[in-house]
Parts: sequence; structure tokens; C-alpha cells
Amino acid sequence: SSLFLCLVLNQELLYKQPSVLVGRTDVVSVTPWLAPIVWEGTFDPVLVDNIYKPMNLTVATTVFAIGKYVRFLQDFLETAEKHFMVGFHVRYYVFTDRPHDVPSVNLSQGRHLSVIQVPGSNRWQEISARRMEIIQTTIERQIRREADYIFCLDVDSKFHARWGSESLGRLVAVIHPGYYEQTRDRFPYERRPASTAYIPMDEGDYYYGGAMIGGFVEDVYTLTKVCRTRFEEDAGNSIEAAWQEESHLNRYLLDNKPSKVLSPEYLWQDFKAKTKEVKVIRFSGVIKNYADVRPN
Ligand code: UDP
Ligand code: MN
Repeated sequence: SSLFLCLVLNQELLYKQPSVLVGRTDVVSVTPWLAPIVWEGTFDPVLVDNIYKPMNLTVATTVFAIGKYVRFLQDFLETAEKHFMVGFHVRYYVFTDRPHDVPSVNLSQGRHLSVIQVPGSNRWQEISARRMEIIQTTIERQIRREADYIFCLDVDSKFHARWGSESLGRLVAVIHPGYYEQTRDRFPYERRPASTAYIPMDEGDYYYGGAMIGGFVEDVYTLTKVCRTRFEEDAGNSIEAAWQEESHLNRYLLDNKPSKVLSPEYLWQDFKAKTKEVKVIRFSGVIKNYADVRPN
């Protein structure tokens, strides 16, 4: 409401009048539980920045670069400096087994990077799975005291356009670019009831991408803790979910609805041609030769 804005904005800000009648009609911009789905044209970047900037927030960004994946760090960090949460305090946490191979990238004022050494692994499935555990323990040890919001991102990716304060929320997930045109029975959820990530054919909201988890530090903490526990419970029963943590993430988000959903603009794939509803690609996974970068 306008009263709220007057209180939050200490200077007058002129912006386009919001309309109740005119806006995007080619996409759905709200979930059935009334969480926004963030698409270009559904928000005013200057207005949202003016709401969040005075809060003096710090945004943590975790990224894993284990083994040969260190090669993706330079582009990831350089493009993040150009497009990711510009004007906010950002703390990158780089987890790697090769700290000496972390490139030195010039960071803008108010942005900071720490390197945290973690063990390598011979199985990419295990690296993927252990991300939840490492994020959980690093939140406990450090991030909880150092940041308000957190985004956990895949390193084999680049930013291409603004990813800003419109993405902030209590629990934030991104719609996977590969499945948003599909019916839920075609989603690659874990389908075996023996797994704690199991989702029956007639359930599920969207297929969320595992390359991004975000939100308040405490909400992401609970998510990583629950997913890690379930992953370990499955391992004890000799079962590994179809897409490891992505499967557990999807199960968690079915039961704990995200408060904000990012459109596939926030997680595209470079091999995929842009579709008409995607007006801007903000972040995308680069094309990689799996045989080249994965340990097995
Ligand atoms: N990862 C890593 N080293 C590996 C495999 C994976 O550091 O050998 C990390 C990295 O951050 C990567 C993420 O785990 O972005 C997810 O793995 P990957 O990108 O290979 O999965 P995909 O996006 O292809 O499903
Ligand atoms: Mn990836």
C-alpha cells in the first residue's frame, strides 16, 4: 500500500503507476498458493530495489567448485559481479578441494569472497549430495551470523542480465527450464515409494531446478537439514533418488511451498533455444562436456 511505501522510501521515488488491468497475460505470475512467479514485466526493478536497499541486507552465495569444476569459477564470478544483486552486500562462499586454483576476480565494494576447503570425491553423485550437508554445516558455523539471505547456485553457469532484489523471499525456488511445458506425470521426480523423495504421479506443483535454492538463511538451513537427513536415510536403505538432491528438493518444496518462485529466466540452459515467454535470460547453465569435467 502507499502508506507502507511512504514509510519505507525515505526519498520520493517516481515510478510508473501499477495497473490492475494491464500486465503480462502470456504467463502465470502467481502460484495457486499466492506466491509470485517472477517474470520480466511483473516487477519494477527500481521500485523493488528502493524497498530492499534501506534494509542494508547481506546476501550469501554458495558455490561448489570441486575437481575440474574450478574452471567455471572465473566466468561465474565475473558475470555475478556484473549482474547479481548489484548494489547489495554480497558474500560468496566458494567450496573447493583446489583452493589454489580459485581465480582472483575483482570484486566491487561491499562484496567479499571466502574460500572454504572441502574434500574432493570420485563420484559426482556424491558431490551433488554433499552440497546439502556442507551448506547446512556452513550456515551453522558462519553464514547465519554473516548474512540475511542466501542463494545456493551451480557453478557451471553464467549471469547474463539482472538478478536483483525481486528474487528475495523467505523460501525461493526456480522452475526448471526443461519441464515447465510438461504435465506433472512427466516430471523426473523420484517415483519409487521406497525413497523419502517419492512423489506420486498425480502430485507435484512444478519441477524445480536443483541449481538454485534461496531464501532467508534460516529457511534454507531447515531445507538443507531435512534434505540431508532424508538423503542419508535413503542411503541407509541403499537407495539414491533419481536426481539426488534435486529429487529431495522437489519433495521438500511440495510439502513446504516456496514463498516466491523464479521463472525459468533465472535458470536457463545454453543448449536450449529461448522461448517466446522468456523475455530475458538472467542466468543459465553453460554447455559442458560431462566426460571432460566429471570425475567418473
Ligand atoms: N560439482 C562440482 N564438481 C563435480 C560435480 C559437481 O563442483 O565434479 C558441483 C558444481 O557446483 C555443479 C554442481 O555440483 O555446478 C551440480 O553438478 P552439475 O552441474 O554437474 O549437475 P547438472 O547441472 O549437470 O545437473
Ligand atoms: Mn550444473
